[in-house]
Amino acid sequence: MNRLKLAARRSRCVAAAALLTLCAATYAGAPQAKGQAPGWFRLMVGTIEVTALNDGTVGLPVDKLLTNTRPGQVVRALQRAYLKIPVETSVNGYLVNTGAKLVLIDAGAAGLFGPTLGNLLANLKAAGYQPEQIDEIYLTHMHPDHVGGLMAGDKPAFPNAVVRADAKEADYWLSKANLDAAPEGSKGFFQGAQASLGAYVAAGRFKAFDGDTDLMPGIRAVAARGHTPGHMTYVVESQGDKLVVWGDLMHVAAVQFADPSVTIQFDSDPKAAAPQRKKAYKDAARHGYYAAIAHVSFPGIGRLRADGKGYVWLPANYTTNAPAGK
Ligand SMILES: [Zn+2]
Repeated sequence: MNRLKLAARRSRCVAAAALLTLCAATYAGAPQAKGQAPGWFRLMVGTIEVTALNDGTVGLPVDKLLTNTRPGQVVRALQRAYLKIPVETSVNGYLVNTGAKLVLIDAGAAGLFGPTLGNLLANLKAAGYQPEQIDEIYLTHMHPDHVGGLMAGDKPAFPNAVVRADAKEADYWLSKANLDAAPEGSKGFFQGAQASLGAYVAAGRFKAFDGDTDLMPGIRAVAARGHTPGHMTYVVESQGDKLVVWGDLMHVAAVQFADPSVTIQFDSDPKAAAPQRKKAYKDAARHGYYAAIAHVSFPGIGRLRADGKGYVWLPANYTTNAPAGK
């Protein structure tokens, strides 16, 4: 091999090495993309389509919020679940398409519960729907993280929807007298509810119902009062399949599945809230239907299995093929 050929080969090797270095440098230097996949999750309940919609997650100091606990119980339970305080807590709403009507159950917080929430509307669109298509909105209760999303700025976010909730809930949170009488630290809850529902009430698009009510074929409201005065659950049923939207029957999966007697400061009446939770757990475990839970890690849909004095949470199996309910 003559010197010319050798030099040419050497320069090709140098060029290849440089290219490799360049490529390696380019890939290794890619900025982290950050963010998360759009927050929606689909599941069929018989012929009814249910889409979980995530509003975001918020860090909660659950060691300070949970009540009726034993010393060290919360910290130990969180450690066993590999969770740190504050616990990143999901805020979920559920979109139910019966085939005849499109119903949103709970609307997320919009701007009422800090800057990390308020994504429900974007996720509804990502899931293939538009806010104009929503026929009815059912509220489990009127805390800000469930009603804030009814408004988009100073306009109703759902221009064609009728909003429905239990009369006891409406009477309590929408009362000006109750707002005036509330201690300073609690006024925000009343103000949030009134600001979120006011436009719907004024337009004649809020219709309260009284306790257990068949709202439309496939969806039934069932009272579970305690967390708030008119807290409701919504039973979605089709062709023998069943899913119950629980709202805030429980908040902290790592603690309250194992010990349903643990309560939370947000409960209006903890003594009534705990038995409602126990009853719901027992029924779900006995019959094996789905629970859809506002503050369990997104999508918050799963089943329960009894385990000693407590319960184990079994998240719904993930599938990309139009899953059946069972
Ligand atoms: Zn809540």
